[in-house]
Amino acid sequence: MKKKFRLGVFKYSCCAGCEFQLIYFQNHIQEVFEHLEVVYCKMAQGDNREEGPFDIALIEGAITQAEQADQLKRVRKASRWLLPIGSCAVNGGVPAIKNHITELEVQERVYEDVSHLHSMRTQPVDDFVRVDGYIKGCPMGEPDLVETVLSLLMDKRPNHFNYPVCVECKLRQNPCVLVSWNQPCMGPVTNAGCGALCPSYGRACYGCWGPAKDANAPALARQFERMGFGSQDIFCRFTQYASPKAEFRRGAELYEKH
Ligand code: SF4
Ligand code: SF4
Ligand code: SF4
Repeated sequence: MKKKFRLGVFKYSCCAGCEFQLIYFQNHIQEVFEHLEVVYCKMAQGDNREEGPFDIALIEGAITQAEQADQLKRVRKASRWLLPIGSCAVNGGVPAIKNHITELEVQERVYEDVSHLHSMRTQPVDDFVRVDGYIKGCPMGEPDLVETVLSLLMDKRPNHFNYPVCVECKLRQNPCVLVSWNQPCMGPVTNAGCGALCPSYGRACYGCWGPAKDANAPALARQFERMGFGSQDIFCRFTQYASPKAEFRRGAELYEKH
């Protein structure tokens, strides 16, 4: 019988939406899973072997505890390929919103007694381990997932979308919500992959795929200011999905309160 590839799916700080997406909503998931033996995936099965070994480890969620980072490093050692899936794992995602206030203040907003907590600043997976690609989106995009996993299985380099959402948007012949309707669209600085989903429904992109390569966030931030948006709005725009990443942080820093 043909050898199956061994898969591990690990979850850290996040909403679990990407794993849910992986299991329930992918059109091509059966084709992909036919070639895989699931060794670790707590959402899908009860019998899991954390020690692997894994051909592919998919990592969901950002790192917010030292224990998570320790396990992640063990998973890296036990894996041939390791891929962060979704905005939280790739860019810090929504959990990184908390990085702009002190850790103690965040803890005290949620818990009365914080003595048992040992959380830390939110960091993406590639701050701790080498990764073999990125599967972006919130939740992650199916085309990216299928392209990456099948490429690795076939020993070829994945062909990712290396351009901003605006390109997809123009290909769909959408009216530009930034130019026509004065909406603060993040499409010019956000990586493609979603098919310009939000502008296709008349809404501004809010950057969930994370920064595109060479994104000029300060230029877009200053454009938002010229359009009449206030400092707080602009700051939030650049910090809601990928604030640990330098490209978006450069846009946010211009409007951060000190
Ligand atoms: S990337 Fe989005 S959908 Fe995926 S785990 Fe994070 S918050 Fe949830
Ligand atoms: S609507 Fe947004 S994504 Fe589309 S072209 Fe305009 S700025 Fe770019
Ligand atoms: S248009 Fe922007 S916010 Fe909407 S799904 Fe695509 S990347 Fe995410």
